[in-house]
Amino acid sequence: MGGPAVPQERKLVTAIPGPKSLELNERRRKAVTDAVPTSHPSYIAAAGGGILVDVDGNQIIDLGSGIAVATVGNSNPHVVEKAKAQLDMFTHTCFMVNAYESYVDAAEKINALTPGDFEKRTAFFNSGAEAVENAVKAARSYTGRRAVVVFDNAYHGRTNLTLAMTAKAKPYKKSAYGPFASDIYRMPMSYPYRDNAAAGTKLTGEEAAKRVITQIRTQIGADAVAAIVIEPIQGEGGFIVPAEGFLPSIVEFAKENGIVFVADEVQSGFARTGKMFASEWEGIEPDLVTMAKGIAGGLPLSAVSGRADIMDAAGVGGMGGTYGGNPTAVAAALGALESYEQDGLVARALEIGEVIEGRLAKLQGMYPGVIGDVRGRGAMQAMELVQEGTIEPNPELTNAIADFGTKNGLLLLVTGTYGNVIRFLPPLSISDELLNDAFDVIEEAFAAALA
Ligand SMILES: *Cc1c(COP(=O)(O)O)cnc(C)c1O
Repeated sequence: MGGPAVPQERKLVTAIPGPKSLELNERRRKAVTDAVPTSHPSYIAAAGGGILVDVDGNQIIDLGSGIAVATVGNSNPHVVEKAKAQLDMFTHTCFMVNAYESYVDAAEKINALTPGDFEKRTAFFNSGAEAVENAVKAARSYTGRRAVVVFDNAYHGRTNLTLAMTAKAKPYKKSAYGPFASDIYRMPMSYPYRDNAAAGTKLTGEEAAKRVITQIRTQIGADAVAAIVIEPIQGEGGFIVPAEGFLPSIVEFAKENGIVFVADEVQSGFARTGKMFASEWEGIEPDLVTMAKGIAGGLPLSAVSGRADIMDAAGVGGMGGTYGGNPTAVAAALGALESYEQDGLVARALEIGEVIEGRLAKLQGMYPGVIGDVRGRGAMQAMELVQEGTIEPNPELTNAIADFGTKNGLLLLVTGTYGNVIRFLPPLSISDELLNDAFDVIEEAFAAALA
């Protein structure tokens, strides 16, 4: 599983960014709007395994996978082969004009992979946000209700409805972008690190769920809620793993009250957490699952899959779009799904998780005052940085660590509601050697920042 012949080693041949990246950036500044920023300064020429090669020839360790997208590795051969073959046959018909077998194949495979042994239906779209929009559409049509429950720290996308569902104001939902969609209600997420610190004791998942259920009952009315939409592990919010028991309690409440439970697995799905879907960790069976990022090895594709009666409730013609389930994207997805299975990537995610957990535990032991929390599952791990001895966020240190990584050939992604979380979500094609090299650099980064 390799992609292009990219040497699997970190190597710096210029400063980062190098002269060619700087030159491209000058052109970019005059051609591309500043509204779309880029967090890492290197322009990329090739990528594969666990390495990004920039235009100056620097080899950078990738701990971000283009935000959980290149989970099967960049230019994964299964993906490339299937996508290329499709490009030679036809590039587009619009599935709503002429159907094709690969769309049906991919839907069958997704139905078989998602949690729950019930009759399912699937629809494909282009982006995660579009999948979430359509899940809400299905849930509202099915229930005849309007209210949608979402959570603190949630990220569901950048379309108008999904912005209303996303929690963070800056940079996503400045008030000038509104008015935002109505009938969205935000509830307290189970955030063990901060909940326990605030409560001075361990808040159980059931207690955290009760807090939500009470608010739903008193502020909305359970019988007014169409859907509860939640990331089983929050992505942009800071890789927050809810306390055990939280998700099952919410699922049970949803079931008792005729509410559609939607797991937004756009970031946590597709082997990322060491299960095909993060919902499996606590054995929950969402009514609907939204997915995208890891689904097609980098090509734009998303899906909603779930209970047939809910998916069909939007009515004939109620879902669609020009490009949704584009033949090349669907072919790429079939390649990615083949790679997950044949290359044992679910198991590999667990192994990667063990390496990262070991290194994070060591690091936290070295800097217990500022590494407030380490958490995650499989190849979706994070550390939360705080002001020495408190739970006050420390975005300055977080950025200093990420900048040190950048200068030393390491791509680190900063995230979290408070901008104080570094998340580790490497492609599953990365080697243990690269992972360990990356964490050696991170140890140097802490030593330099805290000197
Ligand atoms: C990225 C993300 C989205 C939005 O996906 P886009 O493809 O960027 O529209 C939605 N939900 C979650 C959990 C995500 O991580």
